[in-house]
Amino acid sequence: MPVDSKHPETLALHAGWRSDPTTGAVAPPIYQTTSYQFRDTEHAANLFALKELGNIYTRIGNPTTAILEERLAALEGGVAALALSSGQAASAFALQNIARAGDNVVASTDLYGGTWNLFANTLKEQGLDIRFVDPSDPENFRRATDARTRAYYAETLPNPKLVVFPIAEVAAIGREYGVPLIADNTAAPLLVKPFEHGAAIVVYSTTKYIGGHGTSIGGAIIDGGNFDWEKFAERQPALNTPDPSYHGAVWVEAVKPLGPIAYIIKARTTLLRDLGSAPSPFNAFLTLQGIETLPLRIERHVANAQAVADFLSERSEIVKVIHPSRQSGAERARADKYLKGKYGALVGFELAGGLEAGRRFIDALKLFYHVANIGDARSLAIHPATTTHSQLSAEAQLATGVTPGYVRLAIGIEHIDDILADLDQALKAAG
Ligand code: PLP
Repeated sequence: MPVDSKHPETLALHAGWRSDPTTGAVAPPIYQTTSYQFRDTEHAANLFALKELGNIYTRIGNPTTAILEERLAALEGGVAALALSSGQAASAFALQNIARAGDNVVASTDLYGGTWNLFANTLKEQGLDIRFVDPSDPENFRRATDARTRAYYAETLPNPKLVVFPIAEVAAIGREYGVPLIADNTAAPLLVKPFEHGAAIVVYSTTKYIGGHGTSIGGAIIDGGNFDWEKFAERQPALNTPDPSYHGAVWVEAVKPLGPIAYIIKARTTLLRDLGSAPSPFNAFLTLQGIETLPLRIERHVANAQAVADFLSERSEIVKVIHPSRQSGAERARADKYLKGKYGALVGFELAGGLEAGRRFIDALKLFYHVANIGDARSLAIHPATTTHSQLSAEAQLATGVTPGYVRLAIGIEHIDDILADLDQALKAAG
């Protein structure tokens, strides 16, 4: 029996699971099975016809993964979730679920490089037109909207720029047209609640803060249950017209008895069925383990990152610190509106010595790991100009916010004295 609470600290431990009814086991079991025996033919037929929800085959659903899905939905304030094998699968599915060849999606330019590639190349080759717009003016989303626009897509706290996305402003424009805002909240779980600001769908790479320990690649889509797909039937044909892949089901009608979950049920019963990016039950278990301490960890991540931003701001080797607390004007107002003083766990900075100083800094680090990841409990660092962004031209690097001396830190939960000591010695070595 799930515990009734609105507090993330409690939900992170209790949502979706109490104990195993046969053994009493308290930790969620790892249901390492591919299939599930049906009670009888009527039960099987009901499951396939969606008259009853239940387990059929682990590619489409699994009891360990279902606990993860329920917990994620509870923490986010959504109605249901779909866990996937990676964050990339989550962002692809989030769009493919409602946008088909010939349709378009308006996306923020401030996106993770992997998402950018997926949108600008792979999905484009499949006939989906992704229109990138500068999010600093929310009206850019309206300007790029036409009759075939099916969704808006953005990251709430995109790196490396760390300029918070205008969630409520863009979500409100979309709601005028029947266009849902899909928000990737990977860098700000618990810190930003996109549904409270009008987003309809939230996407995560659970690989990062949610899993939190650098053990498992994973992703999730969470349905806010707050978007009236039926009202905008012409705008959203994928959910409002017969689906030949599911014996002509019209999703908004077929799923109505189960609640406002047409979007997420369709993603599971068609995309996950057909494309198969299901998480392993073991990875779902590890991600659940991570979630248990997410509320505690995120507080420490944020406090340590603030201390690092303050420390770096005093250093002569550094020309600029990139952290929402260092912003001013409209950017700062937005950061304060959405992050409410908890500015996340990512900190960027620019070394006066440029590319070579960046290399020396990274090579001198002893505590920080040099990896292409964020959201681990350990502190991580990377020099984008020589790694993640090295394939881009100098101009393209600058457009994404990467200068030659730019270093990105994902601050962990170690003792702050040890974090600052490592940064101090590496800055001295960088010169
Ligand atoms: N979204 C964001 C903001 C990310 O940072 C990443 C990965 O770095 C992804 C999505 C993709 O997630 P995954 O690596 O789990 O596929």
